[in-house]
Amino acid sequence: MSCNYADSLSPYPNKGVLGVAEQFDKESDINEKISKLVEWLQNAKHVVVHTGAGISTSAGIPDFRGPNGVWTLEKKGEKPNVNVSFNDAIPTKTHMALRCLLSKGYVQYIISQNIDGLHMKSGVLRSCISELHGNMFAEQCNKCRRQFIRSSPTETVGQKACGGSCHRGCRGGILLDTILDWEHDLPERDLDMAFMHSTLADLNIALGTTLQIIPSGNLPLKNKKHGGKLVICNLQPTKHNKKADLIICAYVDDIMTKLCKRLGLEIDAYDAVNDPTTHPNDCNQEWTIKPHQVKDIEKMYNTKMKKAAVQRKASKNSPAVFTKTEEQPSSKRKCKDKLNNVALKSEIRTEIKSE
Ligand SMILES: [Zn+2]
Repeated sequence: MSCNYADSLSPYPNKGVLGVAEQFDKESDINEKISKLVEWLQNAKHVVVHTGAGISTSAGIPDFRGPNGVWTLEKKGEKPNVNVSFNDAIPTKTHMALRCLLSKGYVQYIISQNIDGLHMKSGVLRSCISELHGNMFAEQCNKCRRQFIRSSPTETVGQKACGGSCHRGCRGGILLDTILDWEHDLPERDLDMAFMHSTLADLNIALGTTLQIIPSGNLPLKNKKHGGKLVICNLQPTKHNKKADLIICAYVDDIMTKLCKRLGLEIDAYDAVNDPTTHPNDCNQEWTIKPHQVKDIEKMYNTKMKKAAVQRKASKNSPAVFTKTEEQPSSKRKCKDKLNNVALKSEIRTEIKSE
């Protein structure tokens, strides 16, 4: 599959702002801004990184809206000069730095719009990533919804049959690619996890994205009403620059290299041993977000929301009034938890629809 997978998607007129000139901060400004980012990273408890096409350009994969992006060139009647296939592309410095930051506990979660599978190839665990638009190196059973890792990119896009039947032997279960076309809903568990992590984050960092696609582009703002910070690292201006607490205009690979150095971390080189797509014999490798992983985050999310509601109430009824809350019987609690979950789902849907 060529890296210009956009060619395979249905025609779509609303491609957003294209080809805006890139801006570069002065070296001294970059260093100063990275000092601030290091300080925030060290003090944050929950850091979520949102990645877009800009983090894969140094792997040879064109972005969409950059000066040489797929859609910028398409508008001029040109095609990108692609020098790598999805099969040969390997994770960049940024992908490897993120893996390192996750393993050292500086970052808790990644939310990616990229379908190139480079986060997976870097060795990031499924429990640490939402892939909102799919992954070329994953396929999904249409019956049990389990996802499996592929050793080569899918030849199809738009959730079509990509050959083969479910590795778990589901009756009639066939494997589909996971790449979204414009009319598709985002994958539910990936989106739920992304929404909750973004809201829980005291620091959301957007890397290499102009934040123009919704809902993905609005997720980094979800922590703002809870006092969280937003950092944007992108060469082009983004849709949400006005809401950012810090904007760094530099190559993301340079930012991540400097950041890791300042934290005393060494970024590992890409190693095929940690790349699950290089183990073709193990066709049972799953790439499914497990329900219990969603539940764990739901608990954290509900706790945060309850705390926020109490704080709001306290600030309204100032001076604060403390009331004793009675422990509820477990069956009632269970019922309430269920209701909370339903409320959470509908809240996610409403917020996303209203965008
Ligand atoms: Zn199945």
